[in-house]
Amino acid sequence: MGTLTARGAEVEQEKRRLTGLADCHLHFEGSLPPDVVEALARRAGDALGEPGTLSARRASVRDSAAFLALFADVCRLFRSPGDYAAAAARLSRTLAADGVAYAEIYVSPEICQRIGVDPEAALEAVDAGFASAAADGCDCRILLDTVRHWGPEAAGRVLDLHERRPRNRVVGFGMGGEEGAFPAAAFAGCYARARSVGLKTSVHAGEWLGPDSLRDALDALRPDRIDHGIAAAQDPHLLERLAEEVVPLFVAPTGNVATGAVTSFSAHPLPRLLEAGVAVALSADDPLLFSTSTAGEYAAAAAMGLDDDALLAMARRSWRGAFGLSPAERERGAKGVRWEEVES
Ligand SMILES: [Zn+2]
Repeated sequence: MGTLTARGAEVEQEKRRLTGLADCHLHFEGSLPPDVVEALARRAGDALGEPGTLSARRASVRDSAAFLALFADVCRLFRSPGDYAAAAARLSRTLAADGVAYAEIYVSPEICQRIGVDPEAALEAVDAGFASAAADGCDCRILLDTVRHWGPEAAGRVLDLHERRPRNRVVGFGMGGEEGAFPAAAFAGCYARARSVGLKTSVHAGEWLGPDSLRDALDALRPDRIDHGIAAAQDPHLLERLAEEVVPLFVAPTGNVATGAVTSFSAHPLPRLLEAGVAVALSADDPLLFSTSTAGEYAAAAAMGLDDDALLAMARRSWRGAFGLSPAERERGAKGVRWEEVES
C-alpha cells in the first residue's frame, strides 16, 4: 500500500531507508529544520512564525518565482552572526539524524550583506556552528554561493571574501538564482578566478530553462559539476557530452516538481538521464521549502521505478562528486552507504 509525499510522489510505506548518505547540493536557509525558522520568525514578528503558515506557504509553491520569494522571506529572518551559528549547528545535527553523513551546503554572503549582517562574520559563524556540531552531527562543508540575478560584480565580492580569508571548510563556489538573468559568459571570469584560488565549481543550470542554458553554462564556466541539469534529457547531444565528460548532475526531483521545472514525478527525466549513462547524484536542494529530505529523494526516485541498484549507484555517485574529500575519503564514504530499517 503506497502513501503520497507532500508533493504527490507515491512511495512505499517507509520500512527502510538509505543511510550513510552524502548530499552535495543543499542551500543553508532552505535546509533548516522548520522549528528553527518558526522561532526566528516569531522573534521578528513575521507571519512565518504563526502556526501553520510555513507549511501553507511551502505547500503553495508552484513555480520558481514563488519558491525564490519564500526563500528570500526565510533569509530575511536572520539578525546576527549568532543566529547563523545556532542554525548551522541544528542543521548539522538534523542532517545526521536524517542519515546524511557528509554535506556540502551553499552559503550566500551577498544575502547576509543585503539583510544587514556582516557577511564575513556570518560566514565565520556558519563555519563555527558546523565545527561545534561535527562530533555528533553531519560533516558539513561550505559552498560559496553567488546569486545569478545580482550579476558578476556580486560574484566578485563573494570571491574577494574568500581570498581575504580562505577557510578549510569552504570547498567550492557556485551560482543559483534566476537562471535567465545574465548569460553564463558574464560569469566566466568569476569561475576562472574561483578555480585559481583553489575552489571547485558548480552551477545551477538546465533546471528552469532548456538545453541551451545548460550548454552555455558548460561552455562558458567549465564547472566540475552541475546542480540540476535535467534539461539535458531534451537533447541527445548534451546527454552524450555529459556522459562522455563525466560531469555529475546533482538532481533534486522533489524541488523540480515543486517549482514547476517538471510537471510531475512521472514526467521527471531522471530515468532517462541514467539510461543515457549520465553521472547522476540525488540531493534535497532546499528540503525545508520542499518538505523533503535527502533520504526522501531516494524514496521519490524509487517511486519513479528505479531499483535498489540504481539508488545505490546514485548514492555512491554523490560521495564521488564531493569537492571537499580526498579520493580515499570519497571511496570510504561510498562504501558506507547502506539500507537501514526504519523504526515504526
Ligand atoms: Zn539548488
